[in-house]
Amino acid sequence: MNADLLVVGSGLFGLTVAERAANDLGLNVVVIDRRHHIGGNAYSEPEAQTGIEVHRYGAHLFHTSNERVWNYVNQFTGFTNYVHKVYTNHHGIVYPMPVNLHTINQFFNAAYSPSEARQLIAEQAAELEGKEPENFVEKGISLIGRPLYEAFIMHYTAKQWQTDPEQLPASIISRLPVRYNYDNRYFNDTWEGLPVDGYTAWFERMVDHPRIEVKLDTDFFDDAQPFSKGAAAGQVPVVYTGPVDRYFDFEAGELGWRTIDLEEEVLPIEDFQGTSVMNYPDADVPYTRIHEFRHFHPERSYTKDATVIMREYSRFAEKGDEPYYPINTDADRAGLLAYRDLARAESNVLFGGRLGTYKYLDMHMAIGSALSMVDNKLRPHFTEGARLESGGVDA
Ligand code: UDP
Repeated sequence: MNADLLVVGSGLFGLTVAERAANDLGLNVVVIDRRHHIGGNAYSEPEAQTGIEVHRYGAHLFHTSNERVWNYVNQFTGFTNYVHKVYTNHHGIVYPMPVNLHTINQFFNAAYSPSEARQLIAEQAAELEGKEPENFVEKGISLIGRPLYEAFIMHYTAKQWQTDPEQLPASIISRLPVRYNYDNRYFNDTWEGLPVDGYTAWFERMVDHPRIEVKLDTDFFDDAQPFSKGAAAGQVPVVYTGPVDRYFDFEAGELGWRTIDLEEEVLPIEDFQGTSVMNYPDADVPYTRIHEFRHFHPERSYTKDATVIMREYSRFAEKGDEPYYPINTDADRAGLLAYRDLARAESNVLFGGRLGTYKYLDMHMAIGSALSMVDNKLRPHFTEGARLESGGVDA
């Protein structure tokens, strides 16, 4: 095998490792992906009829406060000045998300000042009697009180996770800011934007290097191909970014994942909903949100004759489905500990990315964690001969 490093999976984690390994460490890298394209779930392409860029696996918005990551990605693409804002349609009325002073005042039909609104939510959160929130429900109530939780979070989360919210980690809701002002930016990060000429052009520039070979439609678990698990084991160092339980043939059980189904529609109108993402937090609407892709790029001169929308439905992933979100119940966490032990014992293989570590990583986190793997594991191995071993799947 004519490679110094095999990277399994071409999502942002795998692309970053491959790019650094070739450019910085001077290695010959083979990247394999079982899909027909690079970029993992961040992949996008023009919709055939309209030319509108659609994110094939659901909307991906780039945002980060990590200066190293921001400088790194800017080597490969410029970013537009798109600022993500989300609205939510509750009982036929549209509110801004995440919960901010506008949401609170609209919901309670009031004109609370920031401190009045804080006091109101604190009174509503008093039902927790000062107890440290231990799960998703308690965290939600502590942040926004029960009425707002029940309107905007409870059913949305039931649709999104179909898991008892008491079993969900508090960290999921901590992703959303709560603001006592009228700032309705979805993210708190220092930098955000969308790649000027699309995600795929960005990703192609990352692997446009004579020492990087990308092999698509190539499955690591297909022993008939030369870069398979069977053929690579012990022959070449591997960075594996696929599902960790799949790597070990599910020997410690299956980890729970959510997947999404996206129902695409091209409509013969210029504008369907006036914004890029509208959430549907009520129980009687089966989808969680509708994306309208033209609004991600207001700077482009897209056709005015048509628009592309996608309704997003969420469900438990079965074998063969694309895993998107780690569920992380208590049982999952126990399984993950077993897989971490197995990963530690697997020499010459490192595990990374959302699937390889069973972590809800955003794009910038996947890139940051790949840069750390290069610093802490790959460089010492290739320049000083350090043993290549995982500190567990969260290394
Ligand atoms: N969430 C919610 N209502 C909303 C938006 C989000 O209840 O209108 C909850 C839901 O549990 C979701 C979590 O907050 O899984 C994180 O939302 P985010 O938008 O970050 O999820 P993603 O975009 O990654 O699917």
